Amino acid sequence: MTTVAAYAAPAAKAPLERTTIERRAVGEFDVLIDIRFAGICHSDIHQARDGWRPGTFPMVPGHEIAGVVSEVGPGVTRFAVGDRVGVGCMVDSCRKCDNCEAGLQQYCVEGPTWTYNAVGKDGEATQGGYSQKIVVDENYVVRVPEGLSLDVAAPLLCAGITTYSPLKHWNAGPGKKVAVVGLGGLGHMGVKIAHALGAEVTVLSQSLRKKDDGLKLGADHYYATSDPQTFEDLKGTFDLILNTVSAPLDFGGFLSLLRTDGTLVNVGLPEEPVRIVLQSLFGDRRSMSSSGIGGIPETQEMLDFCAEHGLGAEIELISASEINDAYERVLASDVRYRFVIDTATI
Ligand SMILES: [Zn+2]
Ligand SMILES: [Zn+2]
Repeated sequence: MTTVAAYAAPAAKAPLERTTIERRAVGEFDVLIDIRFAGICHSDIHQARDGWRPGTFPMVPGHEIAGVVSEVGPGVTRFAVGDRVGVGCMVDSCRKCDNCEAGLQQYCVEGPTWTYNAVGKDGEATQGGYSQKIVVDENYVVRVPEGLSLDVAAPLLCAGITTYSPLKHWNAGPGKKVAVVGLGGLGHMGVKIAHALGAEVTVLSQSLRKKDDGLKLGADHYYATSDPQTFEDLKGTFDLILNTVSAPLDFGGFLSLLRTDGTLVNVGLPEEPVRIVLQSLFGDRRSMSSSGIGGIPETQEMLDFCAEHGLGAEIELISASEINDAYERVLASDVRYRFVIDTATI
């Protein structure tokens, strides 16, 4: 066991504070990672504040982890000391079900072991990336390619893969019109990746406040959803709409922007159930779906793609003492576009 400095929420809705946690001894197939950077994802806030379900406390959030391998177990074959690596939302899964065998560990029938706010196979609570070190089985670790610096790579482990996976699955590419709803942590990566895949990209944001940024990030068009005219002008336009907003929307309005056989994919998860009127799907055989992160092989593919296209996240680097302020700013949509904690400051 190793004692490690960390930032934890001691109880639901309580401010995060500095503490120490124990990491397990490095097992046969484990790597010990010196965490350098950890992104702040909106879902960290949902969980630290019991928004989705009662959590386990104290809770160290963080599932956008980038660091350097500092020790490997004797059975490790994929990594060596000094390698630049990442860990995302999962640290284990059953490894036997059809989904695990297909590399879709995020849809493991037994449920993956989440990086924090879960119980590991050792029976201990998992604790996330707002900490200085983590021990993870090598099969749930990915390599950060040389072209990406670790600070801008960290958010790719959740925000990057959460947008890359549905864009690939629903064939975003040349000749396809893709809309990204919301230009936040997820949305800004959705725009960059959809553009790099060759799609024609439109941002649908509440206002035009971030329009210049959106166009710089790779959007071809930018519309305000607070303007009813937007829904008139864009009726029946898109092959794919990627909704990154985790607040409930007027789904009928957004579905009307899809062309026949178009799909609205939700990767933001509101805390409350949503209502849709099925007539908004019926007219043009539209689909509404959702998508959860991506499997380990696809996470590696995404990192390689981002490195090849020079796509890091746009970040604001903060020290650990700023985490609680950063949470408030995320809730106020006041971040361009991802807070990343310099874990040396923990
Ligand atoms: Zn996340
Ligand atoms: Zn499984």
